[in-house]
Amino acid sequence: MRPEILFPLFAPITSLPRLGEKIAKRVAALAGPHVADLLWHLPTGIVDRRFAPRIAEAPAGRVATITARVDAHVPPLVPRRPYRVRLIDETGILELTFFHGQAAWLEKQLPLGAKVVVSGMVERFNDQPKMVHPDVILPADEADRAATVEAIHPLTDGVTARQMRGFVAAALERAPALPEWLDPTLKDRRGWPDWRDALAAAQSPGSEAELSPETPARMRLAYDELLANQLALSLVRRAQRDLRGRAVVGDGRMAAKVTGALPFALTGAQARALEEIRADQASESRMLRLLQGDVGSGKTVVALLAMLNAVEAGHQAALMAPTEILARQHLETIQPLADAAGIEVAVLTGREKGKARAAVLDRLATGTLAMVIGTHALFQEEVAFADLALAVVDEQHKFGVHQRLQLSGKGRAVDVLVMTATPIPRTLTLTAYGDMDVSRLDEKPPGRRPVQTVTVSSERLGEVVEAVARKVREGERVYWVCPLVDESEQVDLAAATERHAHLKERLGSRVGLVHGRMKGLDKDAVMAAFAAGDLDVLVATTVIEVGVNVPAATVMVVEHAERFGLAQLHQLRGRVGRGDRPSSCLLVFEPPLAETARARLAILRETEDGFRIAEEDLKLRGAGEVLGTRQSGLPAFRLADLAVHGDLLAMARDDARLVLARDPDLADPRGKALRVLLYLFERDAAVRYLRSG
Ligand code: ADP
Ligand code: MG
Repeated sequence: MRPEILFPLFAPITSLPRLGEKIAKRVAALAGPHVADLLWHLPTGIVDRRFAPRIAEAPAGRVATITARVDAHVPPLVPRRPYRVRLIDETGILELTFFHGQAAWLEKQLPLGAKVVVSGMVERFNDQPKMVHPDVILPADEADRAATVEAIHPLTDGVTARQMRGFVAAALERAPALPEWLDPTLKDRRGWPDWRDALAAAQSPGSEAELSPETPARMRLAYDELLANQLALSLVRRAQRDLRGRAVVGDGRMAAKVTGALPFALTGAQARALEEIRADQASESRMLRLLQGDVGSGKTVVALLAMLNAVEAGHQAALMAPTEILARQHLETIQPLADAAGIEVAVLTGREKGKARAAVLDRLATGTLAMVIGTHALFQEEVAFADLALAVVDEQHKFGVHQRLQLSGKGRAVDVLVMTATPIPRTLTLTAYGDMDVSRLDEKPPGRRPVQTVTVSSERLGEVVEAVARKVREGERVYWVCPLVDESEQVDLAAATERHAHLKERLGSRVGLVHGRMKGLDKDAVMAAFAAGDLDVLVATTVIEVGVNVPAATVMVVEHAERFGLAQLHQLRGRVGRGDRPSSCLLVFEPPLAETARARLAILRETEDGFRIAEEDLKLRGAGEVLGTRQSGLPAFRLADLAVHGDLLAMARDDARLVLARDPDLADPRGKALRVLLYLFERDAAVRYLRSG
């Protein structure tokens, strides 16, 4: 249960003054629904109103706070013209302009003859200083209140900077003094303020410099967030460990048949990963392991051999993919190998219906089927396993931690192996998978050819089409990926459809189209036609992003490459270069390219090392975007920026481990404070792993 001291922070933002339903909706969409969310909504800019020149000395284009006398009101002569007010000081005239100005209000704010202070952006027309809608209007004796530094928060339609500042200030007033959860030595050494002081300082920067993520206040807040994250992961990990597992040791007979049937030998990295996995399976505790390997590094075979280990020992194994296409593709890869080992494998997705589905469910429940490949359909309650020992989850990014736990709940002591093709920087592995052991496939199978990567401006799209036409004449196969425009499927689809029509016109009929809105069977049919060589060009939205394997494809064209994440582009590029012919990747960008975008695309030209690409991307863009946090279910940090606070993360991890070693139940005073921290960052689920909640 959430401690009472935090109740005010988890009240809805509508409990704050001036936050009615309508505006609260907008603020919630931007910051979050609770008062605490406003605390985390840190400013990204400032307006410095301390510059207080005389009228004649106020330069155009700069915010100024000016004290002057109201000389005249000039109401509009015709409706809908602006209302003007003239101010004077000993140096000149300042004209204030108000569109839709209400005379009564203006006469009250700016009484004729009164000395007032106004603050806002100064403009000049014919060298005449003007101010359109001053941000601040006060009586002159309150000039101190005007000449301040104001924080500017990220905003949204219909919420002004001043309103947002007011909401945040109101939230800060609700923030209670909380018990200190930081290690006092660390706090002293770093010179970090108390929690509430840190918030207050971060929310009211006195200068540009104080917006830096490296101020003591922001560092402290970032550390708090990372500590909550690492502590929660440590607790989950400990709970997983404590669940008794069982020793699963196969006799290797099926694995031997499969390795015998493979046309290649395992790479050193594959063999190492497999050894680590088998050791976990053989141990009495549960496996929770991440198999991390770049596109094409050969994760599938490793997964299959791990599954066979469980099957040999008389148990069941399941492999779960994020999409229908991928599930079927895994089946295609695994089926012949399973045949070689003399073991049956079935598929279970949303598409299996009626009797076929019932049969698979029945055989899983009775244990006559040992291996199954599927989608999230495997999570569903109706799916029961007689004796599930290993769950392999492919492309973890599309699943959340929550679902991972759901699947491991499908059996007694289920080992979990998560495969991810996204090369995640080490720092991020820690936040996203800090509760898991990691095996890395950092060595590609031999014989891979480098993919030649070029960037081309969309102004030269005609040449790109020419090049594709030439390749097609030479018998090559081409992927053409259309961009994610608006996060709107409608728009994406329109763009892809249009490109499809255009290419068809130029290249002839052997151009296919596949997109996310298509029915599963239709999708498969197009993919199959492309794989079989009945289509030369496959136009796709990003549905082909993960996993598809058509070794004969040698050209990848990506439109609006600047809109994709680097990891995503790297994955797309990984679709080619899988066969023995030279491959190329054309990244078509829309000019002009911003500095960062240019740097990012350059990295792709320079290297094919997915881990390096991921590290560079993190430096350039920040964690949320690298991980694609929104759809991934991975933690999004509000206060920590891993590109800057990476070293704090390792500290937080060590800190969390040390705390739990010394005070496993978080019962001593610091432990109790840490519980508050967990609740503060909504890690309630983790607290439940403690003996006394
Ligand atoms: P990933 O899932 O990691 O992207 P896959 O498991 O799909 O990669 O493997 C990519 C391709 O490499 C497949 O065609 C697979 O048969 C092949 N492959 C896997 N391991 C090896 C190896 N040790 N030597 C040669 N080819 C391999
Ligand atoms: Mg794969």
